Amino acid sequence: MQSRWNDADAAAVVARLGGQWGEDLALRVYTSCLIGADKDLVLHGGGNTSVKTEVRDILGAPEEMICVKGSGCDLASIEPHGLPALRLSGLRRLAALETLTDDDLINQLRTHQFDASAPNPSVETLMHAFLPDRFVDHTHADASLVFGNRPEGMAELTDVLGAEVGVLPWIMPGLALARAVAQYRDKNPTSIGLVLHGHGVCSWGPDARTSYERHIQIVHVIERAIAARLDQRQTILSLAAAPEQEPPRVARNVAPILRCLLAASTTDPLRPQRPLVLEWRPTREALAAAASSEARALFNSAPLTPDHVIRTKGPYVVADAAEEELADAVTEFTSRYVDYFDRCSAGQDPLPRMLDPFPRVALVRGAGLLAWGKTKKDACIAADIAEHTIRGKAQAHALSSYQGLDDAALFEMEYWGPELAKLGASREPPLAGQVALVTGAAGAIGVAVTRRLLDGGAHVLVTDLEGEAFERSLLGLEEIYGERVHGVAMDVRSEDSVHDAFDECVLRFGGLDVAVANAGIAHVAPMTELTVEDWERVQRVNETGVFLTFREAARVMKQQRLGGRLVLNASKNVPAPGADFVAYSASKAGAVQVARVAALELARHGILVNIVHPDGVFTDAQSGTSSGLWDTVGEDRMRSRGLTPEGLRAHYQSRNLLNIAVTADHVAEAVAFFAEGRTPTTGAALTVDGGLKETFYR
Ligand SMILES: [Zn+2]
Repeated sequence: MQSRWNDADAAAVVARLGGQWGEDLALRVYTSCLIGADKDLVLHGGGNTSVKTEVRDILGAPEEMICVKGSGCDLASIEPHGLPALRLSGLRRLAALETLTDDDLINQLRTHQFDASAPNPSVETLMHAFLPDRFVDHTHADASLVFGNRPEGMAELTDVLGAEVGVLPWIMPGLALARAVAQYRDKNPTSIGLVLHGHGVCSWGPDARTSYERHIQIVHVIERAIAARLDQRQTILSLAAAPEQEPPRVARNVAPILRCLLAASTTDPLRPQRPLVLEWRPTREALAAAASSEARALFNSAPLTPDHVIRTKGPYVVADAAEEELADAVTEFTSRYVDYFDRCSAGQDPLPRMLDPFPRVALVRGAGLLAWGKTKKDACIAADIAEHTIRGKAQAHALSSYQGLDDAALFEMEYWGPELAKLGASREPPLAGQVALVTGAAGAIGVAVTRRLLDGGAHVLVTDLEGEAFERSLLGLEEIYGERVHGVAMDVRSEDSVHDAFDECVLRFGGLDVAVANAGIAHVAPMTELTVEDWERVQRVNETGVFLTFREAARVMKQQRLGGRLVLNASKNVPAPGADFVAYSASKAGAVQVARVAALELARHGILVNIVHPDGVFTDAQSGTSSGLWDTVGEDRMRSRGLTPEGLRAHYQSRNLLNIAVTADHVAEAVAFFAEGRTPTTGAALTVDGGLKETFYR
């Protein structure tokens, strides 16, 4: 590892931030970003940095502050407001205490903040505050964990690092660790840093560059020691066997099975399980790890550092792709977890509430790494940590043998209040963890439905015909919803295309809970003039397309065994057909019959099938998407009625009882009602037409 310090870059950051925030904080931002850029040092909000500086209070009086990384802030992209200031003297007084409860620690950190609106400071703030040095850098560097997490690791580290760098045993973060680090520093005035067993590296210095470069130097020395000891030795990851089957094929089959196995039970009979979302990575190393005969023992062990437990749990599931073996592996994992909880929580008062006992990472032979989380983002964090863990444990194993911390240390960290707080509020939106697929998603209603499902917390695979309209609408959604939305070109007329899109949905998110058949086209012609080509063209999209969409959705849902919801966007035309519109009306009526039969057949699998009947939706106001269907047939529909095309919208509004313009958002709301499955309703239809007596319930 080399220093990334660059004088010109440092000067540029000082020029940008120094005026408002001062040079110290500007350089603190600069070297924090350098650390954040190194994934072998920190991952996803891990690690923390600080600087002690002077700030003027509201009366202009100087006060000594420590600016320390905010909890959850990412070092790679940190700005000054991500390093909240705390009154140093108030924190240092706490060093006199022998113990400090979680609640007191959090309260002390909050009440000593200078700016009440600043983010919460890192839970490791006391370690920074107790050290006398102006700059402190702390990471969970991979190298320190690889080298240190072996039976002889810490003893060897002392030899490798020399007198300037200390080595401390595992101590739980918080007051105890902060005091131990400060005591070491006090007794070793010439020291430059510390390696903390099972945790990481801490360095200090009088200025930003010194503290940062000492950190890099410590990590570099350990990395060199690892390389020298590994020499030409191979790790289990070097032995990549050629997979027997294509990894996507294996993962496509395994993901829905695992998704069911890892779903926690709920008390809601309409949605008895709460599934997770997948991040699948068929990397060469993951495939090799999963195929290794030594993998089971190696990856079924404690994590590199307890900090990973809240993201990945401790051990990983390692299994072959056969369903029975996956089920056995998950059962074994959960019973071990319950046992671990019972053992480690025994005698605690109050007894903590057990977190869900399911694994977050699985290494499956032929498929690679499958990581799971409540959201795609959580799953990606788990996958990133797992990639580093696989590499790290394989190296430690090749050096001698991997040895993580004991269960008591893991448990203390996993159930530590400040750590649990990082996982965020427990109140979840109604579609949290749910995966939906929407067809015709580039159209006005499709965009609104997609947006509504995303707002409800779902992850959505949007599909439509390839083209500029689809690209544009996808881009707009990705900007707002990030990794929770993914687009795939799909033609509902093609069996292969539909099949491939659902496969993509499973590989992307792990499975499927909701499918919305929304794609539709129309054609205006009196029956005597309608050609067979036009008739079949409309049928192919509106009826065959719905059949293919629902058939594929039901196949995935049945395999996944978590129930599901299918929603058809039909039309007011079904209960109230229009003249010169036979291809559309008949095809939509056919689609409704597909949905009704699906409701009959799929109920026993917990799959609810329902229908919405909108009328006259011309645009999606929010995205400015106009309805392709109405753009095509709007004028002809008016002429069929002997009216002028200009009066199209007014006509549709004035003909309903509420005299209201039906919007794409109204339809999306109706779709969401069925997608959320709030009532035990299947085979039903909901009109969204402003009230038309022809469509009244009968
Ligand atoms: Zn730490």
